[in-house]
Amino acid sequence: MKGSIIKVSGPTVVAKGMRGAKMYDRVIVGSLGLLGEIVRLEGDTATMQVYEDTTGLSLGEDVISAGEPLLAELGPGLLSTVFDGVQRPLYHIYEGQGDFITRGIVVPALQRDKKWDFKAAVKKGDMVNEGDVIGLIQETENIIHKILAPPGISGVIREIKEGGLSVVDTAAVFEDGRKLTLMQRWPVRTPRPFKEKLYPKIPFITGQRVFDTLFPIAMGGTAIVPGGFGTGKTVAEQTLAKYANADIIIYVGCGERGNEMTEVLTEFPELVDPYTGLPLMKRTVLIVNTSNMPVAAREASIYTGITIAEYYRDMGYNVALMADSISRWAEALREISSRLEEMPGEEGYPTYMATRLANFYERGGRIRCLGKDERFGSISIVSAISPPGGDFSEPVTQASMRIAGALWALDADLAHRRHFPAVNWMRSFSLYIEYLQEWYKENIAEDWNILRQELMLLLQKEEGLSEIVQLVGIDAIPDSERIILEVARMIREEFLRQNAFSETDAFCPPAKQYWMLKAFLLYYKELDAMLKKGAALEDVLSHPARNDLVQMKEMKTEGFVEKVKGIINKMEMGIKQ
Ligand code: ADP
Ligand code: MG
Repeated sequence: MKGSIIKVSGPTVVAKGMRGAKMYDRVIVGSLGLLGEIVRLEGDTATMQVYEDTTGLSLGEDVISAGEPLLAELGPGLLSTVFDGVQRPLYHIYEGQGDFITRGIVVPALQRDKKWDFKAAVKKGDMVNEGDVIGLIQETENIIHKILAPPGISGVIREIKEGGLSVVDTAAVFEDGRKLTLMQRWPVRTPRPFKEKLYPKIPFITGQRVFDTLFPIAMGGTAIVPGGFGTGKTVAEQTLAKYANADIIIYVGCGERGNEMTEVLTEFPELVDPYTGLPLMKRTVLIVNTSNMPVAAREASIYTGITIAEYYRDMGYNVALMADSISRWAEALREISSRLEEMPGEEGYPTYMATRLANFYERGGRIRCLGKDERFGSISIVSAISPPGGDFSEPVTQASMRIAGALWALDADLAHRRHFPAVNWMRSFSLYIEYLQEWYKENIAEDWNILRQELMLLLQKEEGLSEIVQLVGIDAIPDSERIILEVARMIREEFLRQNAFSETDAFCPPAKQYWMLKAFLLYYKELDAMLKKGAALEDVLSHPARNDLVQMKEMKTEGFVEKVKGIINKMEMGIKQ
Protein backbone atom coordinates (compact mmCIF):
# COMPACT_ATOMS: atom_id res chain seq x y z
CA MET A 1 0.00 0.00 0.00
CA LYS A 2 1.07 3.54 -0.65
CA GLY A 3 0.70 6.54 1.63
CA SER A 4 2.10 10.06 1.58
CA ILE A 5 4.34 12.00 3.95
CA ILE A 6 2.64 14.50 6.25
CA LYS A 7 5.48 15.19 8.71
CA VAL A 8 9.26 14.81 8.92
CA SER A 9 11.07 15.16 12.24
CA GLY A 10 14.68 14.01 12.08
CA PRO A 11 14.65 10.24 11.67
CA THR A 12 10.91 10.09 12.29
CA VAL A 13 8.46 10.38 9.41
CA VAL A 14 4.66 10.36 9.56
CA ALA A 15 2.52 9.32 6.58
CA LYS A 16 -1.20 9.10 5.98
CA GLY A 17 -3.07 6.70 3.73
CA MET A 18 -1.30 3.71 5.24
CA ARG A 19 -4.38 1.64 6.02
CA GLY A 20 -3.58 -2.07 6.04
CA ALA A 21 0.06 -1.59 7.03
CA LYS A 22 1.25 -3.47 10.12
CA MET A 23 3.46 -2.52 13.04
CA TYR A 24 7.14 -3.04 12.26
CA ASP A 25 6.49 -3.31 8.52
CA ARG A 26 9.44 -2.27 6.46
CA VAL A 27 8.78 0.87 4.40
CA ILE A 28 10.36 2.61 1.45
CA VAL A 29 10.21 6.34 2.06
CA GLY A 30 10.15 9.15 -0.49
CA SER A 31 11.56 9.42 -3.98
CA LEU A 32 15.02 8.63 -2.59
CA GLY A 33 13.68 5.25 -1.49
CA LEU A 34 14.93 5.48 2.09
CA LEU A 35 14.59 2.41 4.27
CA GLY A 36 12.41 2.59 7.39
CA GLU A 37 10.19 0.70 9.78
CA ILE A 38 6.68 1.44 11.12
CA VAL A 39 6.76 2.06 14.87
CA ARG A 40 3.27 3.42 15.43
CA LEU A 41 -0.10 3.07 13.73
CA GLU A 42 -3.20 5.17 14.40
CA GLY A 43 -6.03 4.74 11.93
CA ASP A 44 -4.42 5.14 8.51
CA THR A 45 -1.58 7.24 9.89
CA ALA A 46 1.77 5.50 10.32
CA THR A 47 4.84 6.79 12.13
CA MET A 48 8.11 5.41 10.89
CA GLN A 49 11.71 5.41 11.99
CA VAL A 50 13.96 5.86 9.00
CA TYR A 51 17.42 4.28 8.88
CA GLU A 52 18.87 6.92 6.65
CA ASP A 53 19.29 10.68 6.75
CA THR A 54 15.90 12.24 6.02
CA THR A 55 17.22 15.64 4.90
CA GLY A 56 15.44 16.78 1.77
CA LEU A 57 12.34 14.65 2.13
CA SER A 58 9.23 16.67 1.34
CA LEU A 59 5.63 16.47 2.36
CA GLY A 60 3.43 14.55 -0.04
CA GLU A 61 6.18 12.16 -1.15
CA ASP A 62 5.23 8.50 -1.33
CA VAL A 63 5.68 5.92 1.40
CA ILE A 64 5.36 2.28 0.41
CA SER A 65 4.96 -0.55 2.89
CA ALA A 66 6.83 -3.70 1.92
CA GLY A 67 4.22 -5.79 3.72
CA GLU A 68 6.88 -7.57 5.76
CA PRO A 69 9.07 -6.65 8.73
CA LEU A 70 12.76 -5.78 8.74
CA LEU A 71 14.47 -9.02 7.76
CA ALA A 72 18.04 -10.21 8.05
CA GLU A 73 19.55 -12.25 5.26
CA LEU A 74 21.08 -15.40 6.70
CA GLY A 75 23.40 -17.58 4.69
CA PRO A 76 27.04 -18.13 3.75
CA GLY A 77 29.08 -14.96 3.38
CA LEU A 78 28.12 -13.37 6.71
CA LEU A 79 31.51 -14.15 8.23
CA SER A 80 34.29 -11.65 7.46
CA THR A 81 31.69 -9.06 6.50
CA VAL A 82 31.17 -5.59 7.94
CA PHE A 83 27.54 -4.45 8.07
CA ASP A 84 25.73 -1.39 9.26
CA GLY A 85 22.83 -1.66 11.73
CA VAL A 86 20.33 -2.70 9.06
CA GLN A 87 22.73 -5.20 7.50
CA ARG A 88 23.97 -3.19 4.55
CA PRO A 89 27.47 -4.48 3.79
CA LEU A 90 29.78 -1.55 4.34
CA TYR A 91 32.76 -2.63 2.32
CA HIS A 92 30.72 -3.24 -0.78
CA ILE A 93 29.06 0.10 -0.37
CA TYR A 94 32.45 1.74 0.16
CA GLU A 95 33.82 0.14 -2.98
CA GLY A 96 30.98 1.35 -5.14
CA GLN A 97 30.22 4.71 -3.61
CA GLY A 98 33.25 6.24 -1.99
CA ASP A 99 33.36 6.93 1.73
CA PHE A 100 29.74 7.62 2.46
CA ILE A 101 26.74 5.47 1.96
CA THR A 102 24.48 6.95 -0.67
CA ARG A 103 20.95 7.23 0.60
CA GLY A 104 18.33 4.86 -0.68
CA ILE A 105 20.96 2.50 -1.99
CA VAL A 106 19.83 -1.09 -2.01
CA VAL A 107 22.73 -3.47 -1.61
CA PRO A 108 21.80 -6.98 -0.57
CA ALA A 109 23.46 -8.15 2.64
CA LEU A 110 24.81 -11.31 1.06
CA GLN A 111 26.75 -11.21 -2.19
CA ARG A 112 24.67 -12.57 -5.05
CA ASP A 113 27.42 -13.42 -7.52
CA LYS A 114 29.63 -15.52 -5.27
CA LYS A 115 29.42 -19.30 -5.78
CA TRP A 116 29.67 -21.60 -2.79
CA ASP A 117 30.69 -25.24 -2.97
CA PHE A 118 27.58 -26.93 -1.60
CA LYS A 119 27.87 -30.50 -0.31
CA ALA A 120 24.46 -32.12 0.01
CA ALA A 121 23.69 -33.97 3.24
CA VAL A 122 20.30 -35.34 2.14
CA LYS A 123 19.10 -37.27 -0.92
CA LYS A 124 15.97 -37.56 -3.01
CA GLY A 125 13.14 -39.08 -1.00
CA ASP A 126 14.49 -37.99 2.41
CA MET A 127 12.07 -36.41 4.85
CA VAL A 128 13.45 -33.13 6.14
CA ASN A 129 12.17 -31.18 9.14
CA GLU A 130 12.98 -27.74 10.51
CA GLY A 131 16.56 -27.54 11.72
CA ASP A 132 17.75 -30.60 9.78
CA VAL A 133 21.03 -30.23 7.94
CA ILE A 134 20.48 -30.31 4.20
CA GLY A 135 24.05 -29.55 3.22
CA LEU A 136 27.44 -28.10 4.16
CA ILE A 137 29.59 -25.28 2.88
CA GLN A 138 33.15 -24.38 3.85
CA GLU A 139 32.35 -20.73 4.55
CA THR A 140 35.83 -19.68 5.63
CA GLU A 141 39.04 -21.68 6.19
CA ASN A 142 37.97 -22.54 9.73
CA ILE A 143 34.17 -22.49 9.75
CA ILE A 144 31.78 -24.98 8.18
CA HIS A 145 28.41 -23.46 7.43
CA LYS A 146 25.46 -25.78 7.88
CA ILE A 147 22.53 -25.13 5.59
CA LEU A 148 19.48 -25.99 7.69
CA ALA A 149 15.82 -26.36 6.83
CA PRO A 150 14.45 -23.04 8.15
CA PRO A 151 12.09 -22.97 11.17
CA GLY A 152 8.60 -24.08 10.17
CA ILE A 153 9.75 -25.78 6.95
CA SER A 154 9.50 -29.51 6.34
CA GLY A 155 8.86 -31.87 3.45
CA VAL A 156 10.16 -34.71 1.31
CA ILE A 157 13.12 -33.90 -0.93
CA ARG A 158 12.46 -34.27 -4.64
CA GLU A 159 15.69 -32.75 -5.88
CA ILE A 160 18.98 -31.75 -4.25
CA LYS A 161 21.88 -29.89 -5.85
CA GLU A 162 25.65 -30.22 -5.41
CA GLY A 163 28.55 -27.92 -6.16
CA GLY A 164 28.76 -24.23 -7.05
CA LEU A 165 25.69 -22.34 -5.95
CA SER A 166 25.01 -18.72 -5.14
CA VAL A 167 22.89 -17.79 -2.12
CA VAL A 168 19.84 -17.29 -4.31
CA ASP A 169 20.21 -20.47 -6.38
CA THR A 170 17.88 -23.33 -5.57
CA ALA A 171 19.64 -25.93 -3.43
CA ALA A 172 16.72 -28.26 -2.81
CA VAL A 173 13.19 -28.80 -4.09
CA PHE A 174 10.45 -30.48 -2.04
CA GLU A 175 7.90 -32.95 -3.45
CA ASP A 176 5.28 -30.21 -3.42
CA GLY A 177 7.46 -27.88 -5.46
CA ARG A 178 8.64 -25.55 -2.68
CA LYS A 179 12.27 -24.56 -3.03
CA LEU A 180 15.13 -23.90 -0.61
CA THR A 181 18.01 -21.60 -1.42
CA LEU A 182 21.27 -21.34 0.53
CA MET A 183 19.87 -18.21 2.11
CA GLN A 184 16.91 -17.58 4.39
CA ARG A 185 15.35 -14.37 5.70
CA TRP A 186 14.36 -13.81 9.29
CA PRO A 187 12.59 -10.89 11.05
CA VAL A 188 15.24 -9.40 13.31
CA ARG A 189 12.89 -8.58 16.16
CA THR A 190 11.64 -12.16 16.49
CA PRO A 191 13.77 -14.71 18.37
CA ARG A 192 14.60 -17.82 16.36
CA PRO A 193 13.12 -21.00 17.82
CA PHE A 194 14.98 -23.91 19.46
CA LYS A 195 14.07 -27.10 21.33
CA GLU A 196 14.96 -26.16 24.88
CA LYS A 197 17.06 -23.81 26.94
CA LEU A 198 19.73 -25.45 29.09
CA TYR A 199 21.26 -24.66 32.44
CA PRO A 200 24.45 -22.60 32.19
CA LYS A 201 26.89 -25.29 33.34
CA ILE A 202 29.93 -24.76 31.10
CA PRO A 203 32.17 -21.73 31.54
CA PHE A 204 32.66 -19.12 28.83
CA ILE A 205 36.39 -18.92 29.26
CA THR A 206 37.80 -15.47 28.75
CA GLY A 207 41.39 -16.14 29.76
CA GLN A 208 41.20 -13.09 32.01
CA ARG A 209 41.89 -14.03 35.63
CA VAL A 210 39.65 -11.46 37.24
CA PHE A 211 36.73 -12.57 35.06
CA ASP A 212 37.19 -16.34 35.04
CA THR A 213 38.32 -16.80 38.63
CA LEU A 214 36.42 -14.14 40.49
CA PHE A 215 33.36 -13.32 38.38
CA PRO A 216 32.97 -16.08 35.81
CA ILE A 217 30.35 -16.19 33.11
CA ALA A 218 28.77 -19.30 31.68
CA MET A 219 28.59 -20.33 28.05
CA GLY A 220 25.27 -18.76 27.07
CA GLY A 221 25.47 -16.27 29.93
CA THR A 222 25.37 -12.51 29.91
CA ALA A 223 27.89 -10.12 31.39
CA ILE A 224 27.78 -6.36 31.47
CA VAL A 225 30.83 -4.12 31.60
CA PRO A 226 29.89 -0.65 32.77
CA GLY A 227 32.60 1.93 33.11
CA GLY A 228 33.39 5.57 32.51
CA PHE A 229 35.49 6.84 29.64
CA GLY A 230 38.92 5.19 29.40
CA THR A 231 38.28 2.47 31.96
CA GLY A 232 38.93 -0.32 29.45
CA LYS A 233 35.54 -1.38 28.08
CA THR A 234 36.67 -1.57 24.48
CA VAL A 235 39.91 -3.33 25.33
CA ALA A 236 37.93 -5.88 27.38
CA GLU A 237 35.48 -6.48 24.52
CA GLN A 238 38.24 -6.91 21.98
CA THR A 239 40.37 -9.11 24.21
CA LEU A 240 37.38 -11.37 24.75
CA ALA A 241 36.55 -11.36 21.03
CA LYS A 242 40.06 -12.63 20.45
CA TYR A 243 40.56 -15.14 23.23
CA ALA A 244 37.22 -16.34 24.60
CA ASN A 245 36.28 -19.93 23.82
CA ALA A 246 33.61 -19.02 21.26
CA ASP A 247 33.48 -20.34 17.70
CA ILE A 248 31.85 -17.26 16.19
CA ILE A 249 32.11 -13.60 17.18
CA ILE A 250 29.42 -11.03 16.47
CA TYR A 251 30.80 -7.62 17.31
CA VAL A 252 28.29 -4.79 17.46
CA GLY A 253 29.98 -1.42 17.66
CA CYS A 254 27.83 1.60 18.41
CA GLY A 255 30.31 4.43 18.60
CA GLU A 256 29.71 7.74 20.23
CA ARG A 257 32.41 9.38 18.20
CA GLY A 258 32.92 8.69 14.52
CA ASN A 259 36.64 7.99 14.82
CA GLU A 260 36.07 5.29 17.43
CA MET A 261 34.30 3.16 14.85
CA THR A 262 36.89 3.98 12.22
CA GLU A 263 39.38 2.43 14.65
CA VAL A 264 37.26 -0.70 14.90
CA LEU A 265 37.01 -0.82 11.11
CA THR A 266 40.75 -0.55 10.65
CA GLU A 267 41.90 -2.56 13.67
CA PHE A 268 39.53 -5.49 13.64
CA PRO A 269 40.51 -6.81 10.21
CA GLU A 270 44.13 -6.81 11.44
CA LEU A 271 43.47 -8.97 14.50
CA VAL A 272 44.94 -12.45 14.36
CA ASP A 273 43.04 -15.42 15.74
CA PRO A 274 45.35 -16.85 18.44
CA TYR A 275 43.87 -20.33 17.96
CA THR A 276 44.41 -20.67 14.22
CA GLY A 277 46.78 -17.90 13.17
CA LEU A 278 44.16 -16.83 10.60
CA PRO A 279 42.60 -13.37 10.60
CA LEU A 280 40.03 -13.16 13.40
CA MET A 281 37.54 -11.86 10.81
CA LYS A 282 37.29 -15.41 9.40
CA ARG A 283 34.96 -16.21 12.27
CA THR A 284 33.64 -12.72 12.93
CA VAL A 285 30.73 -10.60 11.77
CA LEU A 286 31.19 -6.89 12.42
CA ILE A 287 28.20 -4.60 12.78
CA VAL A 288 29.22 -1.01 12.93
CA ASN A 289 27.31 2.19 13.54
CA THR A 290 29.11 5.47 13.45
CA SER A 291 27.73 8.56 15.12
CA ASN A 292 26.90 10.09 11.73
CA MET A 293 24.58 7.22 10.88
CA PRO A 294 20.94 7.81 11.80
CA VAL A 295 19.84 6.71 15.25
CA ALA A 296 17.23 4.30 13.95
CA ALA A 297 19.90 2.12 12.33
CA ARG A 298 21.72 2.07 15.64
CA GLU A 299 18.55 1.02 17.42
CA ALA A 300 18.13 -1.86 14.95
CA SER A 301 21.77 -2.96 15.10
CA ILE A 302 21.54 -5.09 18.23
CA TYR A 303 18.63 -7.02 16.72
CA THR A 304 20.48 -7.57 13.47
CA GLY A 305 23.44 -8.75 15.57
CA ILE A 306 21.54 -11.17 17.77
CA THR A 307 19.63 -12.61 14.78
CA ILE A 308 22.90 -13.46 13.04
CA ALA A 309 24.15 -14.87 16.36
CA GLU A 310 21.08 -17.10 16.63
CA TYR A 311 21.56 -18.30 13.08
CA TYR A 312 25.07 -19.64 13.87
CA ARG A 313 23.90 -20.91 17.25
CA ASP A 314 21.31 -22.99 15.41
CA MET A 315 24.12 -24.71 13.50
CA GLY A 316 25.52 -25.81 16.87
CA TYR A 317 28.14 -23.13 17.37
CA ASN A 318 29.07 -21.24 20.50
CA VAL A 319 28.65 -17.62 19.59
CA ALA A 320 29.82 -14.57 21.51
CA LEU A 321 27.97 -11.34 20.93
CA MET A 322 29.92 -8.31 22.05
CA ALA A 323 28.15 -4.95 22.14
CA ASP A 324 30.13 -1.75 22.62
CA SER A 325 28.23 0.00 23.96
CA ILE A 326 24.62 -0.78 24.71
CA SER A 327 24.22 2.75 26.11
CA ARG A 328 24.37 4.09 22.56
CA TRP A 329 21.51 1.78 21.66
CA ALA A 330 19.48 3.03 24.63
CA GLU A 331 20.19 6.63 23.62
CA ALA A 332 18.94 5.90 20.11
CA LEU A 333 15.79 4.45 21.61
CA ARG A 334 15.41 7.57 23.74
CA GLU A 335 15.80 9.87 20.79
CA ILE A 336 13.23 7.99 18.73
CA SER A 337 10.83 7.88 21.67
CA SER A 338 11.12 11.60 22.18
CA ARG A 339 10.41 12.23 18.47
CA LEU A 340 7.31 10.11 18.91
CA GLU A 341 6.39 12.39 21.80
CA GLU A 342 5.99 9.43 24.13
CA MET A 343 5.79 9.90 27.87
CA PRO A 344 9.40 9.92 29.06
CA GLY A 345 10.52 7.77 31.98
CA GLU A 346 13.64 8.15 34.06
CA GLU A 347 16.22 10.50 32.49
CA GLY A 348 14.10 10.68 29.35
CA TYR A 349 14.40 7.00 28.47
CA PRO A 350 11.08 5.47 27.43
CA THR A 351 9.45 3.37 30.12
CA TYR A 352 9.74 0.25 27.94
CA MET A 353 13.55 0.57 27.69
CA ALA A 354 14.15 -1.98 30.49
CA THR A 355 11.74 -4.49 28.95
CA ARG A 356 13.35 -4.15 25.52
CA LEU A 357 16.75 -4.66 27.10
CA ALA A 358 15.52 -7.73 28.99
CA ASN A 359 14.02 -9.20 25.80
CA PHE A 360 17.32 -8.69 24.04
CA TYR A 361 19.37 -10.45 26.75
CA GLU A 362 16.75 -13.18 26.86
CA ARG A 363 17.84 -14.16 23.34
CA GLY A 364 21.18 -15.28 24.78
CA GLY A 365 21.59 -18.69 26.39
CA ARG A 366 22.71 -22.23 25.71
CA ILE A 367 20.15 -24.32 23.85
CA ARG A 368 19.36 -27.64 22.25
CA CYS A 369 18.96 -26.86 18.55
CA LEU A 370 16.09 -27.79 16.26
CA GLY A 371 16.83 -30.70 13.96
CA LYS A 372 17.13 -34.46 14.18
CA ASP A 373 20.84 -34.70 14.96
CA GLU A 374 21.59 -33.63 18.52
CA ARG A 375 23.25 -30.21 18.47
CA PHE A 376 23.87 -27.65 21.19
CA GLY A 377 24.56 -24.02 20.54
CA SER A 378 24.95 -20.93 22.65
CA ILE A 379 25.05 -17.17 22.59
CA SER A 380 27.03 -15.47 25.32
CA ILE A 381 26.46 -11.74 25.50
CA VAL A 382 29.05 -9.29 26.82
CA SER A 383 27.89 -5.73 26.62
CA ALA A 384 29.72 -2.60 27.55
CA ILE A 385 27.80 0.24 29.14
CA SER A 386 28.99 3.83 29.22
CA PRO A 387 27.16 5.55 32.07
CA PRO A 388 27.53 9.33 31.83
CA GLY A 389 30.16 10.46 34.32
CA GLY A 390 30.74 6.83 35.30
CA ASP A 391 27.70 6.99 37.56
CA PHE A 392 26.18 3.51 37.84
CA SER A 393 22.91 4.73 39.28
CA GLU A 394 21.71 5.81 35.83
CA PRO A 395 18.83 3.88 34.20
CA VAL A 396 20.71 1.86 31.55
CA THR A 397 23.26 0.47 34.03
CA GLN A 398 20.53 -0.21 36.58
CA ALA A 399 18.24 -1.95 34.10
CA SER A 400 21.15 -4.05 32.78
CA MET A 401 22.26 -4.99 36.28
CA ARG A 402 18.90 -6.50 37.05
CA ILE A 403 19.10 -8.78 34.01
CA ALA A 404 22.77 -9.69 33.62
CA GLY A 405 24.26 -12.81 35.17
CA ALA A 406 27.62 -11.16 35.75
CA LEU A 407 28.65 -7.60 36.43
CA TRP A 408 32.19 -6.51 35.73
CA ALA A 409 32.18 -3.03 37.19
CA LEU A 410 35.04 -0.93 35.83
CA ASP A 411 36.52 1.64 38.12
CA ALA A 412 38.04 4.96 37.14
CA ASP A 413 40.46 4.95 40.12
CA LEU A 414 41.89 1.58 39.15
CA ALA A 415 42.18 2.65 35.51
CA HIS A 416 43.89 5.83 36.64
CA ARG A 417 46.44 3.75 38.54
CA ARG A 418 46.76 1.62 35.38
CA HIS A 419 45.41 -1.41 37.16
CA PHE A 420 43.86 -3.23 34.17
CA PRO A 421 41.41 -4.86 33.73
CA ALA A 422 40.05 -2.11 36.02
CA VAL A 423 37.44 -4.42 37.55
CA ASN A 424 36.31 -3.32 40.98
CA TRP A 425 36.20 -6.59 42.93
CA MET A 426 33.97 -5.17 45.63
CA ARG A 427 31.22 -4.01 43.26
CA SER A 428 31.27 -6.83 40.72
CA PHE A 429 29.34 -10.08 40.93
CA SER A 430 28.60 -13.36 39.15
CA LEU A 431 25.47 -15.44 39.55
CA TYR A 432 27.02 -18.36 37.63
CA ILE A 433 29.47 -19.63 40.25
CA GLU A 434 27.03 -22.14 41.66
CA TYR A 435 26.31 -23.56 38.19
CA LEU A 436 29.96 -23.70 37.13
CA GLN A 437 31.35 -25.34 40.28
CA GLU A 438 30.83 -28.86 38.97
CA TRP A 439 32.66 -28.14 35.73
CA TYR A 440 35.59 -26.67 37.62
CA LYS A 441 35.64 -29.60 40.03
CA GLU A 442 35.77 -32.07 37.18
CA ASN A 443 38.08 -30.21 34.86
CA ILE A 444 40.35 -28.08 37.03
CA ALA A 445 40.33 -28.89 40.75
CA GLU A 446 38.12 -29.93 43.65
CA ASP A 447 38.83 -26.80 45.64
CA TRP A 448 38.39 -24.19 42.88
CA ASN A 449 35.47 -22.51 44.59
CA ILE A 450 37.08 -22.72 48.04
CA LEU A 451 40.13 -20.90 46.73
CA ARG A 452 38.09 -18.19 45.06
CA GLN A 453 36.21 -17.65 48.31
CA GLU A 454 39.50 -17.41 50.21
CA LEU A 455 40.66 -14.85 47.67
CA MET A 456 37.49 -12.76 48.08
CA LEU A 457 37.87 -12.90 51.83
CA LEU A 458 41.47 -11.75 51.66
CA LEU A 459 40.52 -8.84 49.40
CA GLN A 460 37.70 -7.87 51.72
CA LYS A 461 40.03 -7.93 54.71
CA GLU A 462 42.47 -5.75 52.82
CA GLU A 463 39.70 -3.26 52.08
CA GLY A 464 38.80 -2.98 55.77
CA LEU A 465 42.44 -2.79 56.86
CA SER A 466 43.29 -0.08 54.34
CA GLU A 467 40.69 2.15 55.92
CA ILE A 468 42.16 1.56 59.36
CA VAL A 469 45.68 2.21 58.09
CA GLN A 470 44.56 5.51 56.63
CA LEU A 471 43.27 6.54 60.01
CA VAL A 472 45.95 5.26 62.36
CA GLY A 473 48.98 4.51 60.17
CA ILE A 474 50.60 1.26 59.13
CA ASP A 475 52.60 0.85 62.36
CA ALA A 476 49.46 0.66 64.46
CA ILE A 477 48.27 -2.62 63.03
CA PRO A 478 49.61 -6.02 64.12
CA ASP A 479 52.08 -8.01 62.02
CA SER A 480 49.46 -10.66 61.24
CA GLU A 481 47.48 -7.95 59.46
CA ARG A 482 50.55 -6.43 57.82
CA ILE A 483 51.05 -9.67 55.94
CA ILE A 484 47.43 -9.63 54.77
CA LEU A 485 48.05 -6.22 53.25
CA GLU A 486 51.27 -7.44 51.74
CA VAL A 487 49.85 -10.57 50.16
CA ALA A 488 46.67 -8.83 48.98
CA ARG A 489 48.77 -6.19 47.25
CA MET A 490 50.80 -8.89 45.57
CA ILE A 491 47.66 -10.68 44.41
CA ARG A 492 46.20 -7.48 43.06
CA GLU A 493 49.32 -6.67 41.12
CA GLU A 494 50.35 -10.13 40.02
CA PHE A 495 47.05 -11.95 39.70
CA LEU A 496 44.16 -9.53 39.16
CA ARG A 497 46.15 -7.25 36.90
CA GLN A 498 46.60 -8.61 33.43
CA ASN A 499 48.07 -6.83 30.47
CA ALA A 500 45.95 -7.33 27.37
CA PHE A 501 48.97 -6.49 25.24
CA SER A 502 51.43 -8.94 26.80
CA GLU A 503 52.26 -11.86 24.55
CA THR A 504 52.44 -14.42 27.34
CA ASP A 505 49.85 -13.00 29.70
CA ALA A 506 47.03 -11.71 27.47
CA PHE A 507 45.39 -15.12 27.75
CA CYS A 508 45.66 -17.18 30.93
CA PRO A 509 44.03 -20.64 30.74
CA PRO A 510 41.84 -21.72 33.69
CA ALA A 511 44.34 -24.31 34.96
CA LYS A 512 47.08 -21.72 35.07
CA GLN A 513 44.74 -19.32 36.88
CA TYR A 514 43.95 -21.97 39.46
CA TRP A 515 47.58 -22.88 40.16
CA MET A 516 48.66 -19.27 40.37
CA LEU A 517 45.93 -18.58 42.90
CA LYS A 518 46.79 -21.69 44.88
CA ALA A 519 50.42 -20.59 45.10
CA PHE A 520 49.52 -17.07 46.27
CA LEU A 521 47.14 -18.31 48.93
CA LEU A 522 49.66 -20.84 50.16
CA TYR A 523 52.24 -18.09 50.32
CA TYR A 524 49.93 -16.23 52.68
CA LYS A 525 49.59 -19.33 54.88
CA GLU A 526 53.32 -19.76 54.91
CA LEU A 527 53.95 -16.16 55.99
CA ASP A 528 51.30 -16.52 58.68
CA ALA A 529 52.88 -19.75 59.95
CA MET A 530 56.32 -18.10 60.10
CA LEU A 531 54.94 -15.23 62.16
CA LYS A 532 53.22 -17.62 64.53
CA LYS A 533 56.53 -19.39 65.05
CA GLY A 534 58.01 -16.08 66.13
CA ALA A 535 59.87 -14.94 63.01
CA ALA A 536 60.50 -11.22 62.63
CA LEU A 537 58.29 -9.31 60.17
CA GLU A 538 61.24 -8.28 57.95
CA ASP A 539 62.29 -11.90 57.57
CA VAL A 540 58.76 -12.99 56.80
CA LEU A 541 58.32 -10.31 54.16
CA SER A 542 61.55 -11.20 52.43
CA HIS A 543 60.52 -14.79 51.97
CA PRO A 544 62.40 -16.35 49.02
CA ALA A 545 59.24 -17.68 47.33
CA ARG A 546 58.29 -14.11 46.53
CA ASN A 547 60.52 -13.88 43.47
CA ASP A 548 59.15 -17.09 42.04
CA LEU A 549 55.58 -15.94 42.55
CA VAL A 550 55.90 -12.62 40.80
CA GLN A 551 57.28 -14.36 37.74
CA MET A 552 54.38 -16.77 37.40
CA LYS A 553 52.19 -14.78 35.07
CA GLU A 554 54.88 -14.36 32.46
CA MET A 555 55.73 -18.08 32.53
CA LYS A 556 54.75 -20.07 29.46
CA THR A 557 51.64 -22.22 29.77
CA GLU A 558 53.51 -25.35 28.73
CA GLY A 559 55.07 -26.92 31.80
CA PHE A 560 53.55 -24.24 34.00
CA VAL A 561 51.72 -26.57 36.38
CA GLU A 562 54.90 -28.60 37.03
CA LYS A 563 56.90 -25.50 37.82
CA VAL A 564 54.28 -24.10 40.16
CA LYS A 565 53.91 -27.42 41.91
CA GLY A 566 57.65 -27.16 42.55
CA ILE A 567 57.22 -23.70 44.08
CA ILE A 568 54.28 -24.94 46.16
CA ASN A 569 56.20 -27.98 47.43
CA LYS A 570 59.03 -25.79 48.61
CA MET A 571 56.59 -23.57 50.48
CA GLU A 572 54.76 -26.51 52.02
CA MET A 573 58.04 -27.86 53.35
CA GLY A 574 58.58 -24.44 54.91
CA ILE A 575 55.22 -24.56 56.68
CA LYS A 576 55.85 -28.03 58.07
CA GLN A 577 59.24 -27.17 59.51
P1 ADP B 1 36.89 2.70 27.18
O1 ADP B 1 36.43 1.88 26.02
O2 ADP B 1 36.28 2.25 28.48
O3 ADP B 1 36.75 4.16 26.98
P2 ADP B 1 39.46 1.62 26.43
O4 ADP B 1 39.08 0.20 26.35
O5 ADP B 1 39.62 2.34 25.15
O6 ADP B 1 38.45 2.42 27.36
O7 ADP B 1 40.79 1.67 27.29
C1 ADP B 1 41.54 2.84 27.47
C2 ADP B 1 43.01 2.50 27.61
O8 ADP B 1 43.24 1.75 28.79
C3 ADP B 1 43.57 1.62 26.51
O9 ADP B 1 43.96 2.35 25.41
C4 ADP B 1 44.74 0.94 27.19
O10 ADP B 1 45.87 1.76 27.18
C5 ADP B 1 44.31 0.82 28.62
N1 ADP B 1 43.83 -0.55 28.93
C6 ADP B 1 42.56 -0.94 29.12
N2 ADP B 1 42.49 -2.25 29.43
C7 ADP B 1 43.74 -2.73 29.42
C8 ADP B 1 44.33 -4.01 29.66
N3 ADP B 1 43.60 -5.09 29.97
N4 ADP B 1 45.67 -4.11 29.58
C9 ADP B 1 46.42 -3.04 29.30
N5 ADP B 1 45.93 -1.82 29.05
C10 ADP B 1 44.61 -1.64 29.11
MG1 MG C 1 35.44 2.37 24.24
